[in-house]
Amino acid sequence: MVPETAAAPETSATAESAVTPTGLLARLVAIDSVNPDLVPGGAGESAIADYCGGWLAARGFELHRLEQHPGRPSLVALVRGTGGGRALMLNGHLDTVSLAGYDGDPLEPRIRDGRMHGRGTFDMKGGLAAMMVAAARATADGPLRGDVVLALVADEEHASFGTEEVLESFTADAAVVVEPSHLEVTLAHKGFAWFDVEIVGRAAHGSRPELGVDAIAKAGHFLVALEDLGRRLAKGPAHPLLGTGTVHASVIRGGEEPSTYPAHCRITLERRTVPGEHADRVEQELTSLLDHLTATVPDFAYRLTRGLHREPFEADPQAPVVRTLTHHATLALGHPPVVRAEPFWTDCALLDRAGIPCLLFGVDGAGAHAATEYVDLASLDLLTDVLTATVRDFCC
Ligand SMILES: [Zn+2]
Repeated sequence: MVPETAAAPETSATAESAVTPTGLLARLVAIDSVNPDLVPGGAGESAIADYCGGWLAARGFELHRLEQHPGRPSLVALVRGTGGGRALMLNGHLDTVSLAGYDGDPLEPRIRDGRMHGRGTFDMKGGLAAMMVAAARATADGPLRGDVVLALVADEEHASFGTEEVLESFTADAAVVVEPSHLEVTLAHKGFAWFDVEIVGRAAHGSRPELGVDAIAKAGHFLVALEDLGRRLAKGPAHPLLGTGTVHASVIRGGEEPSTYPAHCRITLERRTVPGEHADRVEQELTSLLDHLTATVPDFAYRLTRGLHREPFEADPQAPVVRTLTHHATLALGHPPVVRAEPFWTDCALLDRAGIPCLLFGVDGAGAHAATEYVDLASLDLLTDVLTATVRDFCC
């Protein structure tokens, strides 16, 4: 007879030493670092920055704590080079998404079947632990010729002000963003641009159609045209890794009460972009669409406002950092790593815009932003080895 629950051997992970990636990861998972801009009242990055700062200071790193936003620190930890070598930055974020809705205790790291479970194990405290241990190992016998720079940043899960703050004061010759990528090399991702379109009508009593202009009905023309734009984008030239750009409506608001012609209808939309599609160009695309409606639909009037936009990202596959990391990943994996692209935006775009060639490479696992989350511990060790070798080679 088979027992109803074949209990897999499970161990508490905090018994492991904090000098191994697994042991350090267990410490990091146990520290609440929920992004308070995502979850009101979230713990923020102070406690985890304190812990990481202590860990890195004990290993001889020069520490810089950046805190333009109180309670939302980023850390830069350096081992300065002896001179004449290239500087490499490893970038990882300290914040996580919500603990609510997690299946089990999100802050208690548990190891089962070669996986560690807990919020942030995959996205991305695994990567943080790997980059800290790798930088410590690569410089254990003394500084290299180039600087080794660790950027442990706040707020990646919301607006990425952490990496922006780091880039105001620090740079490097190249960077690796250690977000989870299933040990595949990510060389491109999409960008996005948000827009508000306000359709302007004229308020009037519902019994006086000769006075009113129905902004909601006019907005319908715009939504039909927007869907048509989406179809045209889907048929357009595709990026080899990312496909085409897309567009969708996100929020709509308008109207006052049943018996009044609505004077305003506001639509927020999002345009996801591929390399080559800059925000100016996609704004022009929307302006021509809206101008066409103004010319062809009676009483159509609009105001277009551009909101947050983030550029798409594409690495040069021949960049020295890409070649160096790919070489060491090939040795560790026993085959060349898969090259991939992501539909979502990452801090790579900010580094690239700052003139720092970069790529994304991180652990295997699953459950980013989901009810259970885990990292594959063999991939964590492999990532640490690849990063250690990459740092030694690039900064030598
Ligand atoms: Zn992440």
